[in-house]
Amino acid sequence: MYLYNSLSHKKELFTPNNPNVVKMYTCGPTVYHYAHIGNLRTYIMEDVLEKSLRYLGYNVLRVMNITDVGHLASDADTGEDKMLKGAKRENKSVMEIAKYYTDAFFEDCRKLNIKIPEIVQPATGCIAEFIQIVEGLLEKGFAYVAGGNVYFDTSKLDKYYVFNDHDEEDLAIGVREGVEEDTNKRNKNDFVLWFTKSKFEDQALKWDSPWGVGYPGWHIECSGISMKYLGEDLDIHAGGIDNAFPHHTNEIAQSESYLGHKWCNYWFHVHHLNTDTGKMSKSKGEFLTVSLLESKGYDPMAYRLFCLQSHYRRNLVFSWENLDNAVVAYEKLIAKIAALKQDGEVDMAAFDALKERFTNALNGDLNTSVAVTAVYDVLKAKTNDATKLAALADFDQVLSLNLIKAAETLRKKEAEEAAAADPEIDALVQARTDAKKAKNYAEADRIRDALKARGIEIIDTPQGTKWRRV
Ligand code: AMP
Ligand code: ZN
Repeated sequence: MYLYNSLSHKKELFTPNNPNVVKMYTCGPTVYHYAHIGNLRTYIMEDVLEKSLRYLGYNVLRVMNITDVGHLASDADTGEDKMLKGAKRENKSVMEIAKYYTDAFFEDCRKLNIKIPEIVQPATGCIAEFIQIVEGLLEKGFAYVAGGNVYFDTSKLDKYYVFNDHDEEDLAIGVREGVEEDTNKRNKNDFVLWFTKSKFEDQALKWDSPWGVGYPGWHIECSGISMKYLGEDLDIHAGGIDNAFPHHTNEIAQSESYLGHKWCNYWFHVHHLNTDTGKMSKSKGEFLTVSLLESKGYDPMAYRLFCLQSHYRRNLVFSWENLDNAVVAYEKLIAKIAALKQDGEVDMAAFDALKERFTNALNGDLNTSVAVTAVYDVLKAKTNDATKLAALADFDQVLSLNLIKAAETLRKKEAEEAAAADPEIDALVQARTDAKKAKNYAEADRIRDALKARGIEIIDTPQGTKWRRV
């Protein structure tokens, strides 16, 4: 598989350290609010990456953190802790909102068919591991204590800006919301490993440490959790593009200084979901969630398809019109699949040819839009339906669009509708509609009442009048 590696700035043939297992780490959510559909774009594409690797025959061991402490309003270590901000907003404790939004995140993943990684670790459960790394960095001279906090000293590195081909706009996004200067820092890019003194003395969660009672910086969480479960060598580290700087840059700085060798070989960054006013972000206040899409009648699968239709290294523009187009595409696709019949044996030669196109798309830097086209190729292929159904079920291991299940549900619904059909009642309903049109309301009511007496309810909808047995 060829994957674009943000570290080398080119597509590389993916080769894991150990051919038997790919070690993959993903930055998880900061659980102070619902995930917005932009965050979920990143999780969907990471899910597709993991499933593609499995599809291509790798074992994958994947770890994700849950940030429940230490992520300040600005990624550059200033401002209030996001968790505390969330707790104040909702008049709850930090642990209460962490639990609530972690569960909400899992629920969103379930709705979007995002597989939850084998290991999901809240940061508050690994404080001892973070302290150990900070101690190691101090011992090796890569860190210093100033004003009660422990900082990483970026001047000790040969190279700090490892992802420096990202455009300035992306780099700037990493340093969100009013950055205040921290006079304890020796160098502009130094970052906090451990806080004991912050402007926010009412920080809810604190732990004892060699430097006093305090809490970890956000960046150390991912290094610590990754090393705890995946060891000293990581194959793939994934996250949204805004994490490249400063978060991932700092993760590399501290991990490699601590370990004394290269840490992670491939960096996978998903680009942003934007609206017409720019990046979708929680700090702007208004953001869209999966539940909101559902409350407007959208199937989460249509959003998943919308994400898969574009490449992960391109910004994706969200608009209701674009989402509506994905809904139409999804419904048409499912209707076509529902029309296929199990009509005998799978033609293995035809199946392999279809699979090859799909596999090539994944191998080419996870080209999901071409992979979706491969689904349409199946429907157009000159082979029997059994082969098509087998290919679609096979592809859906990666795409996770419920292709077979949704088609079955549709088939069942159509069969039920057909079984319930009754031309006599259709004619009476039509007669009532005609009577209403002719302003003969007495006749219209008479028909309605007569139908009611037979257990038939009439429902007037913008798409016309329907009926059902009650
Ligand atoms: P957070 O919960 O804010 O730490 O973000 C969770 C994940 O979503 C991170 O990997 C971010 O890089 C990513 N992310 C944030 N905003 C967007 C966006 N508008 N589009 C895609 N991914 C995003
Ligand atoms: Zn991280």
